[in-house]
Amino acid sequence: MASPARLARLTPKSVDFDKWYIELVRQAELADYAPVKGCMVIRPYGYALWEHIQAALDGMIKATGHENMYFPLLIPESYLAKEAEHVEGFAPEVAWVTQGGSKDLEERLAIRPTSETIICSMYADWIHSYRDLPVLINQWVNVYRWEKRTRLFLRTSEFLWQEGHTFHETEKEATEEVERMLDCYTTLARDWLALPVVPGTKTRSETFAGAVYTRSIEAMMSDGWALQAGTSHNLGQHFTRAYNITFRNRENAEEHPFQTSWGVSTRIIGAVIMAHGDDNGLILPPKVAPVQVAVVPIPAGGDEEMNSRIEEIAKRFEEASGPTCRIRVDRRDGIRPGEKFAHWELRGVPLRITLGKRDVEAGVVTITRRVDGTTETMGIDACIAALPELLEDAHTRLQARALALLEARSCDVTTLDELSEAFVKEPVFANAPFCNRPACEDRIKEQVHAVTVRVLRDDRKGDGAPCIACQAPSDHIALIARAY
Ligand SMILES: [Zn+2]
Repeated sequence: MASPARLARLTPKSVDFDKWYIELVRQAELADYAPVKGCMVIRPYGYALWEHIQAALDGMIKATGHENMYFPLLIPESYLAKEAEHVEGFAPEVAWVTQGGSKDLEERLAIRPTSETIICSMYADWIHSYRDLPVLINQWVNVYRWEKRTRLFLRTSEFLWQEGHTFHETEKEATEEVERMLDCYTTLARDWLALPVVPGTKTRSETFAGAVYTRSIEAMMSDGWALQAGTSHNLGQHFTRAYNITFRNRENAEEHPFQTSWGVSTRIIGAVIMAHGDDNGLILPPKVAPVQVAVVPIPAGGDEEMNSRIEEIAKRFEEASGPTCRIRVDRRDGIRPGEKFAHWELRGVPLRITLGKRDVEAGVVTITRRVDGTTETMGIDACIAALPELLEDAHTRLQARALALLEARSCDVTTLDELSEAFVKEPVFANAPFCNRPACEDRIKEQVHAVTVRVLRDDRKGDGAPCIACQAPSDHIALIARAY
């Protein structure tokens, strides 16, 4: 029997988290480096994962009244330059097209780093009256931001995302829209990806270039670092003024509409990997896992009658597969069962069902859960009927584990010394009263290597407690962490 090379073992997370991450992304065949630095190839397994995340979010985007459309990849330099803060924020990372064939272009063209500028330029012609509002659109595209240091999924120059863009009659409507979409992202993280997140508002230094304010959700990775998993920006009238978008309001006066934008990118795949994975591989949230159930028949040597009974059961599982229960039977030849188990474990498949001789004789199958390795046996019919429930239970267990980690690795601190102490042993989510002044934010950053204020939390307020840095009464509780 041909014996394929054994899977290389992953570097344990506890030894080198970064190495573990990159090895896992490549060995599980999610993605790989491309010839151009900063670009990645998303392989079929990684792309299927993205498609499931995309389908879930696209459903929510449409259910909240938005429509998809498409704007071009190239943006004329003059379009990009109109909103000063925005262009300053993005200038260092814009990639330019300067030639068409061998001919120099009269005007440089930016490869979109984001699309506010082109969208505003077009909508300036399309919005005239309050009757044209609200505009509620979204696009699923790639964007390009020249990055110096890159990591697969987490930080790549080219990445995939959705960018939502909306225009409204009133400030109130825009504010509500910003919250509505942040709520969608929280739901995506919690209910689909089993990621508990902390929603909040960014400080000035972390606000999107050109926005009035930025809202974000922060997830904890299993090494205690934070990852920004989605952002929703209130753009006010900054861009609509700069791009001269006006409408006749209900009083027949001319006014600039209020605008929002919001996005989730392929970075969120990095969050799923780092939040849930272990030393044996990925642990995928069942609702977005490309394969939810791996069925591994174990051939009973030359016992042909037994082999055909096993195959019969395998077929019954296959027939139970559908859009909401994705089942794969592993019939690969010449690979030992142990290697098949490792294969599906590495790929994070939530449930494994083993069909062995002894089980079949007893009329049962063995179910193994990826999240905690627990197993149980069940009658064949009962198991097929219980699959949706078993998958739901796998989600609940994964989410409970992530939540327990978030709770265990969160702490409250009131002084800069306490902040330092909190990070001595391992990275944490530290919560501290904070006045939200840039000088105090700088002092926090200087206190502990690589920490930043991630967000001003929504769920907790400062209530006048002394700011961690300056002791002035503070309105906010800042979430302070190291971040990807
Ligand atoms: Zn302060």
